[in-house]
Amino acid sequence: NPAKPKYHPIKDACWNKGQEVPYLALAKTLENIEGTSARLKMIDILSNYLRSVMLLTPEDLLPSIYLCLNQLAPAYHSLELGMAETYIMKAIGQCTGRTLAQVKSAARTTGDLGLVAEQARATQRTMFPPPPLTLRKVFAALKEVAQATGQASVNKKIGKIQSLYVACRHSEARYLIRSLEGKLRIGLAEQSVLQALACACAASPTAGPLAGTVDVSADMSQEKFKARVDEFSLIIKTTYCECPNYDSIVDILLKYGVEALPQHCKLTPGVPLKPMLAHPSRGVADLFTRFDGERFTCEWKYDGERAQIHVPGTDSPDLTKASIFSRNQENNTSKYPDVLSRLPKLLKGSVQSCVLDCEAVAYDTANKQILPFQILSTRKRKDAQASEIKVQVCVFVFDLLYLNGSPLVRESLERRRALLRENFNEIEGEWEFARGRDCSSPEEVEGELAEALRGSCEGLMVKALDGDKARYDIARRSHNWLKLKKDYLEGCGDSIDAVVVGGYHGKGKRAGHYGGFLLACYDPEMDAYQTLCKIGTGFSDEDLRTFSETLQTHVIDAPKSYYSYENSMNPDVWFEAACVWEVRCADLSLSPAHRAALGLVDRDKGISLRFPRFIRCRDDKRPEQATSARQVADMYLAQDQVKNTAGNKTAQE
Ligand code: ATP
Repeated sequence: NPAKPKYHPIKDACWNKGQEVPYLALAKTLENIEGTSARLKMIDILSNYLRSVMLLTPEDLLPSIYLCLNQLAPAYHSLELGMAETYIMKAIGQCTGRTLAQVKSAARTTGDLGLVAEQARATQRTMFPPPPLTLRKVFAALKEVAQATGQASVNKKIGKIQSLYVACRHSEARYLIRSLEGKLRIGLAEQSVLQALACACAASPTAGPLAGTVDVSADMSQEKFKARVDEFSLIIKTTYCECPNYDSIVDILLKYGVEALPQHCKLTPGVPLKPMLAHPSRGVADLFTRFDGERFTCEWKYDGERAQIHVPGTDSPDLTKASIFSRNQENNTSKYPDVLSRLPKLLKGSVQSCVLDCEAVAYDTANKQILPFQILSTRKRKDAQASEIKVQVCVFVFDLLYLNGSPLVRESLERRRALLRENFNEIEGEWEFARGRDCSSPEEVEGELAEALRGSCEGLMVKALDGDKARYDIARRSHNWLKLKKDYLEGCGDSIDAVVVGGYHGKGKRAGHYGGFLLACYDPEMDAYQTLCKIGTGFSDEDLRTFSETLQTHVIDAPKSYYSYENSMNPDVWFEAACVWEVRCADLSLSPAHRAALGLVDRDKGISLRFPRFIRCRDDKRPEQATSARQVADMYLAQDQVKNTAGNKTAQE
């Protein structure tokens, strides 16, 4: 009669110098992080773990960081975890002698397949326990699972998961399964991982004569140590923005130490950087208050898809290696063979290498006319053949971030713009510079806005022109870029990007399809999706037909434990958080029936959208990039009605 395996939760998570890191060491770390909601404590726990890895087994630092972030490679490699739930359930069932229905039912009760897997594994008896898992082995196996493609790969994937799962101890099963689901749910943001890495490096030198031997923090005053952490944190975070590639960063960090990062890991053509984003403005007067005497330019805001174009090269541009990345650093090169083939026309002879920030917009070449975004979204997403392309695009270039070996992100916009115009050609309908005007009076801004709207644009992007404010703030939603859209002037505020978490069966004309949907915003602090509204307006019949099909792959048996909703809103069908939709509404109001931004404005009420209307799918956004709870709260508070009421209350008090 096989015995239940006996393990020691602490001893089994320890290892000696030079040995491979046990996967249990990471699982215990994640478990501790999950057990706290204090960000500083999370960073502390993770930095202790990373420090041990750096001192004992530095080769495991890179997989440790990736696994904490539930990533396998830089985002632009498009190597993603996130297997269909049914396959994972099948693997768990087959290993533990449960039927698929039993696993499903347990997952429905707990809302967490990771916990189900952990509990099932804990009570399982094993005749010959497999050797303990190492971090390296798990990382390599997850990579194999993610890389396997095609129908025949399904069984291979299930087999791989089973071989890992039967070797899991304690909470290893929980995190293994959650990794496979594509979501760790421990509330650890990437910025916290970078901060933890900085703390670990500050305490234990990774390079130089003291590498791997001492805890330098012991010989320092607390103040001095804190200053060292701050310095390292700034270096690591800035480097990561310019070069979002942990493979390069960890390599340099271990070879030469943190201080060497800026010299070795720079903005490089071929490695996409996170784009600068804009804040909404409340109207023309608001622009003048915000820029307060500083010079700014009003560029047309084109309605297409962001395209970061990279051309590497040393003496001359290497067009065979040119690539185009999306707003999310995904590689879109194979979507735009037509754009790539036109690159030689754009570059003047002076260009050896460059990175351009642009908007690709659907374009009617016969009538020389910009077309709506909806037309662009009908273009094939991958592996398009130039000869088959029906929707033409014109690329509107609005920034130059790198030229001939030098990053330009710290230069002012005025300088970047001058270099752009000096080194690149405009070709009507193919490559155009974003139109616009440097404005100094409200009348000029209003005039330019009217022009932009006549030119089929969404509005204006208003950007600081000189000084430090006019730098390109990588990865930042900056106040030095403001968007001014027509809708703001009409008082509806910005649109909202919400996550589809539920569906309601349609009736009458909509029978057989979903007739309405439950939408949520994302709260990064709680790592939760909070419901925002039900929506049933703005859809064409074609939209509803398409969504019934596309959403089918995202149906789940029960709401996830990280969905926050009131039972009165229970949909007929729950979806995993995958699709992001842009919606508009009449206004935002406090609501006891929804949980969006709960606690940020009112202790007991959430915020909901009144009269929401579907605008379009945002395939370029991941659910974590949907409008955040904080943004929803800010939008609610920025409404004139709310501001006036708050003002009246204060006056009365
Ligand atoms: P966000 O990126 O702010 O979360 P979003 O993706 O919905 O929101 P908007 O807020 O509508 O985008 O506006 C920013 C986007 O506008 C940029 O990401 C870019 O794709 C596009 N854009 C169009 N024209 C310009 C321009 N002249 N300068 C900068 N961005 C522009």
